[in-house]
Amino acid sequence: MAPADDVWVRDATETRGIVGRADLLVLPTSAEQVAEVLAWCYRHDVPLTPRGGGTGFAGGAVPVDGGLVLALDRLERVRSFEPLLWRAHVEAGVRTGHVHRLARESGLLFPPDPGASEQSQIGGNIANNAGGPHAFKYGVTGRWVTGLEAAVAPGDLITIGGPIRKDVAGYDLKSLLIGSEGTLGIVTAAWLRLIPGPEAAYPVVGLYRDTAAGCAALERVLGSGLVPAALEYLDGGALVAAGGAFPGGAPAGAGFMVVAEADGTADEAAGLRDELAEVLGDGALAVQAPEPADLWRWREGVAFAVISQRGGKSGEDVVVPLDRLAEAIEETVEIGRRHELQTCSWGHAGDGNVHANFIVDPRDEAELDRARAGAEELFAMAIRLDGSISGEHGIGWTKRGWLERQWGPRAVTLHRELKRVFDPKGLLNPGKKE
Ligand SMILES: Cc1cc2nc3c(=O)[nH]c(=O)nc-3n(C[C@H](O)[C@H](O)[C@H](O)COP(=O)(O)OP(=O)(O)OC[C@H]3O[C@@H](n4cnc5c(N)ncnc54)[C@H](O)[C@@H]3O)c2cc1C
Repeated sequence: MAPADDVWVRDATETRGIVGRADLLVLPTSAEQVAEVLAWCYRHDVPLTPRGGGTGFAGGAVPVDGGLVLALDRLERVRSFEPLLWRAHVEAGVRTGHVHRLARESGLLFPPDPGASEQSQIGGNIANNAGGPHAFKYGVTGRWVTGLEAAVAPGDLITIGGPIRKDVAGYDLKSLLIGSEGTLGIVTAAWLRLIPGPEAAYPVVGLYRDTAAGCAALERVLGSGLVPAALEYLDGGALVAAGGAFPGGAPAGAGFMVVAEADGTADEAAGLRDELAEVLGDGALAVQAPEPADLWRWREGVAFAVISQRGGKSGEDVVVPLDRLAEAIEETVEIGRRHELQTCSWGHAGDGNVHANFIVDPRDEAELDRARAGAEELFAMAIRLDGSISGEHGIGWTKRGWLERQWGPRAVTLHRELKRVFDPKGLLNPGKKE
């Protein structure tokens, strides 16, 4: 054990000024040690914050009121990898990017691709049920988890599921733990399902004058019956921050971008790319077909290009039904304007997932206050548009108190009762997912 120092009490919300406080840092090396630490916390009434790669955008891994940070970094073993059976059994601290490479080297694919994959851990992805651009076709992390090993109160290791593809025994505890943000148990290992990787993937990019034209193109793609692997967008503000580095260059007057990707066999992918280009071309200023590696490297840098404008950003990830997407993107800009904040959004358009960002100077307290007020309006907008306050980043610390407004009291009571069953002393990641 060691005293917790700064780096362990922050996550990706540090660029909006969120920093926690902890008394102890523990780095166990085995699942059994994780269970022992939890048992110790339960004996001594010490709150515990599980921590993966610290890339979360909701403050979930930030200890808000002291206690112990339990970092999973040293649970980094691949327990087994069986490419011929399309599966892997990995410990929670294995990096997402490592699983991607392992699968790819054997011609396989682990589809969940949240954007910070070299830092985030499989345990953190599971705890957040992370998505990413390719969730549009392939679904979010939970779809690729067939079994979990977890430490639960008061200090036991449990296994639910395993290297199996179907399982309807008992209530679906696996799905309850997935997305529970470290508030019900600590994931120590997971069995992951893999699939044969596509032979080829070709992106197509449409550039439009404004949000209305871009969202009309998105709806045409869906209506056409074509199934891209990814369907993303960037609004005008995001293009101002990141468009300069876009491979191929954005034409003058572009105020909205749609990124679609076609995958499959080389012939299928090329055919789908051409069909997507035709549908996206209607009303576009330009349609381009960048190299896949260049495009995705650039796309992963969008968040950093936005942060580099003023040193920080306050980002939310609300979700709306696809037919309300244009409204949500335009209202996001309007909310920012009302609070005198520079604003932009981008995100997983096909899933209606809007990454709405206020660009801030993290040292400017007044601006951070305005960003917090703007975020409250974003959540209210999502609920009013029949959406959700979070599509992939979770409730964490930053959205505390909002679940009740989205769900209503009875559903929230059930939510709290479940928490009490799993964590009767309320020591697992207190203050989060409430
Ligand atoms: C540049 C960038 C791009 C991103 N893009 C995406 C994206 O496209 N899609 C997306 O979904 N997210 C995205 N994210 C957010 C983030 O990467 C994901 O939420 C990721 O799943 C967090 O994993 P982590 O290991 O960093 O978890 P952490 O941030 O360490 O923790 C997240 C939560 O999980 C809990 N937790 C962590 N490990 C465990 C465990 N083993 N058991 C129980 N609870 C645990 C923590 O207590 C916390 O509540 C992005 C982040 C960045 C910085």
